Amino acid sequence: MFENVRQAQDYCKNQGIRMIDFKMVDINGRWRHLTIPAERLDEGTMRYGIGFDGSNYGYAPVEKSDMVFLPDLTTAHPDPFTEVPTLSMSGNVRVLKDTGNEPFDQYPRNVALKAEEFMRRSGIADQMIIGPEFEFHLLDRVSYDCRPNKVSYELDTLQAEWNSGLPGANSGYHVPREGGYHICAPLDSSYDFRSKVCLMLADWGIDVKYHHHEVGGPGQVEIEVELGSMTDMADRTMILKYVVRNAAVAAGKTVTFMPKPIYQEAGNGMHVHMLLRKDGHPLFYDETGYSGLSKEAHWFMGGLLMHARSLCALTNPSTNSFKRLVPGYEAPVTIGYATSNRSAVIRIPAYAKAPDSKRFELRNPDATCNPYYAYAAILMAGLDGILRQTDPHAHGWGPFDCNLYQLSEKEKAGLEALPGSLSEALDTLEEDHEYLTREGVFPEPLLHAWIKNKRGEAQLVEQIPHPAEIGLYYDL
Ligand code: GLU
Ligand code: MG
Ligand code: MG
Repeated sequence: MFENVRQAQDYCKNQGIRMIDFKMVDINGRWRHLTIPAERLDEGTMRYGIGFDGSNYGYAPVEKSDMVFLPDLTTAHPDPFTEVPTLSMSGNVRVLKDTGNEPFDQYPRNVALKAEEFMRRSGIADQMIIGPEFEFHLLDRVSYDCRPNKVSYELDTLQAEWNSGLPGANSGYHVPREGGYHICAPLDSSYDFRSKVCLMLADWGIDVKYHHHEVGGPGQVEIEVELGSMTDMADRTMILKYVVRNAAVAAGKTVTFMPKPIYQEAGNGMHVHMLLRKDGHPLFYDETGYSGLSKEAHWFMGGLLMHARSLCALTNPSTNSFKRLVPGYEAPVTIGYATSNRSAVIRIPAYAKAPDSKRFELRNPDATCNPYYAYAAILMAGLDGILRQTDPHAHGWGPFDCNLYQLSEKEKAGLEALPGSLSEALDTLEEDHEYLTREGVFPEPLLHAWIKNKRGEAQLVEQIPHPAEIGLYYDL
């Protein structure tokens, strides 16, 4: 938004901005924030940054936990949700060393920037363009309680009577189970909510492609944004989730991007479309190739499929992620690629035919990822495929032009599947991560911290008695 601090200061004065809010990303991909009075923003802030204690952000301990946040003026945007006029800014984090401060190599935005730099240095491409799709549930209410002897979990969707069987305000209109795709008002009761969110996003510089009700029952919706450069898209992912959540709270609702909030309903994916460019030319197009894809595109897919299992530890890093990756709900299980096939890990959209839009989507990711790590890991896996010229067809990963959920046991033999649990994904990442640590893009200590934190989450969920266990075992 601004090129220099003077412009930012003038803007604050003219627009009555009273606070500057710095947004930092923790290891899990949550925004945290720290606020200064607007009159304190000066050249010194931009040069020396703002110090904070990084030890509470979940990263591997560095020699000292003193970190410095350096705001990036180009990311400045007025926060539409605060009462006190506030200018929000993201930036980068540096760590203090005796020799001066240097970029904190584990900080998500720095990891994403390093991955892009690795891509450019490799000479393969100079830009990775991606387009995530955001699926989420808009709910009236959520309550959970996992204190000893109090395990319970409840969700109310916009049309609560659908789940509970109780009469509700609009009980004549029920979004049918798995029948919500593109459904119209009055069944689609969140149209205005989504439209308002999209206008706010546009104002924040995020162009929306479209929004709609999703296939799941009441409350499952989707917003798809225009494609953009990888690290920018990670910034945009953070903004989008912030805007969606806060707009929901302002409307008296609540939002979850959890991959599988409701049993036996479609889950929430975050499919990622992607393509590479070099000197402005698209690298994934070749009209003579399978589905119009070049050999580089095939190798890139080969890298993604080769590392699909370990990649899940970064693209699907929650225990809940693996409740979504089951057959029957348009989420992938089998490692493979195909055109128009929503049951495969990689789908090549049949409609994207123009050279510059020739791409494919990776369908397993979900929004519980840290987008900077997830997008950077996707890029590193794909580049590894190009460097090794990994042919996905020769590896038996497709193309699969059939419903992969309906394979017989015989047909399934020899096919590889995504991990069935977070623990399995973490085991795989422990064995398969050299493609990530190349040239220090993902530092080893970061991966160790990640695996340790995530194993803790897996253990917590395993040790808490589950409500379903009451039904299964109470009277056994
Ligand atoms: N909700 C599905 C998923 O979990 C995807 C539906 C779609 O193709 O948009 O990935
Ligand atoms: Mg969708
Ligand atoms: Mg999709």
